[in-house]
Amino acid sequence: MPTPRSNLRTGTDYHVHTARCGHAGGAMRTYVEAALARGLSEIAFTDHVPLYFLPGDDPDPGIAMTRAELPGYVEEVRDLREEFAGRIDVLLGLEADYAEGHEAALAAILAAHDWDVVLGSVHWVKSDWIDAPHSGARHEREGTEVLWKEYYRLLAKAASTGLFDVLTHFDLPKKFGHRRPASLAMHEAAAVEAARAAGVAVEVSSAGLRKAVAEEYPAPPLLASLVKAGVPIVFSSDAHAPAEVAWGREAIEAAALAAGAREHLSFRKRERRKYPL
Ligand SMILES: [Zn+2]
Ligand SMILES: [Zn+2]
Repeated sequence: MPTPRSNLRTGTDYHVHTARCGHAGGAMRTYVEAALARGLSEIAFTDHVPLYFLPGDDPDPGIAMTRAELPGYVEEVRDLREEFAGRIDVLLGLEADYAEGHEAALAAILAAHDWDVVLGSVHWVKSDWIDAPHSGARHEREGTEVLWKEYYRLLAKAASTGLFDVLTHFDLPKKFGHRRPASLAMHEAAAVEAARAAGVAVEVSSAGLRKAVAEEYPAPPLLASLVKAGVPIVFSSDAHAPAEVAWGREAIEAAALAAGAREHLSFRKRERRKYPL
């Protein structure tokens, strides 16, 4: 009987940025070398999509690459894929913001390249970022309940668009320590149900462990509900530096197992495959 593939042979990181976004550092080759050193078999570059929903060519240089930079990004990932072929699979991905009312503009960007995986993120909530350094203060000013409620409404809507393969950092508004109010349990459950109905996956991300909240995304009980609903998972670090590639890998794999997950996904040209945990 063949031995089941151990996770060591199928180590994946499905959320990795590059210096093009303006808030990450390091050469792309260094990220791939770091992934190899951590024993990964796959690394998906998923840099931030150009901010197609804001006016101007470069509306927020510290957040995302420009439209003009996108083809160079795609090319560099392809070059690294060829260079590292046989040692590690380098995948072409994108972290795409969901912006309500701008679905057609995003669909056009997604159609322009041959992505392996498209992450769907809600960062833009009530006309401002929910996760930028200034965003913690929004909870005091605008109200935690208001922000969380709107966030989950948008996340559920993002899932239902069918534009995304994976929803990222499912409970992102907790980043600075403002946890989801107990009164919004039904809103969270509705977002879980939207993910299930859409057949979209979610990431288990170590990034939250590096933030003020000091907890992976999604929180353990939320991850358990997602797994119970049959929503598949991928592993991610949300690395913004080579040293963060596969960061916290053991912790998020343990979290996934504790939540009841028994497999994780991998993507090629937006087709999924399953690996046992
Ligand atoms: Zn980023
Ligand atoms: Zn993000």
